[in-house]
Amino acid sequence: MNKKTQLIHGGKTTDPYTGAVTTPIYQTSTYEQDAIGDLRQGYEYSRSGNPTRTALEGLIADLEHGQHGFAFGSGMAAISAVIMLLDEGDHLLINSDVYGGTYRALTKVFTRYGIKVDFIDTTQIDSVESYIKPETKMLYIETPSNPLLRVTDIKKTAEIAKKHNLISVVDNTFMTPYFQNPLTFDIDIVLHSATKYIGGHSDVVAGLVATNNADLAERIGFIQNSTGGVLGPQDSYLLIRGIKTLGLRMDQVQRNTLAIVEMLQSHEAVQAVFHPSIESHLNHDIHQSQASGHTGVVAFEVADIETAKKVIKESKLFTLAESLGAVESLVSVPALMTHASIPKDVREKEGIADGLIRLSVGIEDTEDLVADLKQALEK
Ligand SMILES: *Cc1c(COP(=O)(O)O)cnc(C)c1O
Repeated sequence: MNKKTQLIHGGKTTDPYTGAVTTPIYQTSTYEQDAIGDLRQGYEYSRSGNPTRTALEGLIADLEHGQHGFAFGSGMAAISAVIMLLDEGDHLLINSDVYGGTYRALTKVFTRYGIKVDFIDTTQIDSVESYIKPETKMLYIETPSNPLLRVTDIKKTAEIAKKHNLISVVDNTFMTPYFQNPLTFDIDIVLHSATKYIGGHSDVVAGLVATNNADLAERIGFIQNSTGGVLGPQDSYLLIRGIKTLGLRMDQVQRNTLAIVEMLQSHEAVQAVFHPSIESHLNHDIHQSQASGHTGVVAFEVADIETAKKVIKESKLFTLAESLGAVESLVSVPALMTHASIPKDVREKEGIADGLIRLSVGIEDTEDLVADLKQALEK
């Protein structure tokens, strides 16, 4: 099946019990047993399993070319469940510009349980092996990353992990299963903040995980049921609904983004543009080889923080908000918002200038978005 067909026909989202074409919302916490332990359809209690969630979990597995899927109450619940695969004393390697929430969970929560972490530059993939220690058990990347869209080689990440017996993990939030499928490069685990493109309408907080590895799947399922960060049936339904239009939305997001990138690159008020579609972008070729399209997250630099504030004030179509991946276009200033807690000198060393503006391009009309941003820059 091609991707657009798979988004509609993947998984088993027709209700197996009634034939309902749209997955019903099984709003129940528990299930009647015919005799003690005699479960009618294998369902016992909705933390352990719920038919609406099962439909979504099968769908994400299919879309990511995996055998097993899991749905969580947020991207962070999904990420936390994956980190819980590690034991006390284990060490993991992760890209230094990892999502802020992941950084916080690792440094403020998981280190208290004896898990050790090093934040490294995974764009320089050949240097990654030098950071591996005897206790290293996991190699975790985001590609492209936030907010500078740095690209890491997925295939080489999987190869290094295999060679050293590490669990490889890719946070695929920015690309979605429509544009990038890390499991096809032999990555062990792919995960998403489904709050972003997969849900796509700024109305659900959710996380998804997929894997081909039966042993890891059994362990993740056990952690999901034991620690309980499951997604409810209403939100599972909303994600199944969002996924049906993921391809249409991503095609329009990509069209809009490429037009905006082109305008920004030739605009005199713009000092730099960061997007993997740009030929001079670091690891552009690698991105082209591992993804079939482009994210709508793009960053660009203007002179200073005052100019950035002015551009945002003058824009009529880009809503000032954190988050990304929705139908509506959003704008943020990382130095004042998502990355404000990082000291200025560290921030600048990471390449996040005060005048950096981050867009999450939505699905509005292409010309309207380009014209809006242009007039904002010109004021
Ligand atoms: C938003 C985000 C997360 C966290 O997901 P939540 O759904 O907000 O918990 C993780 N990774 C990336 C790349 C994100 O953008």
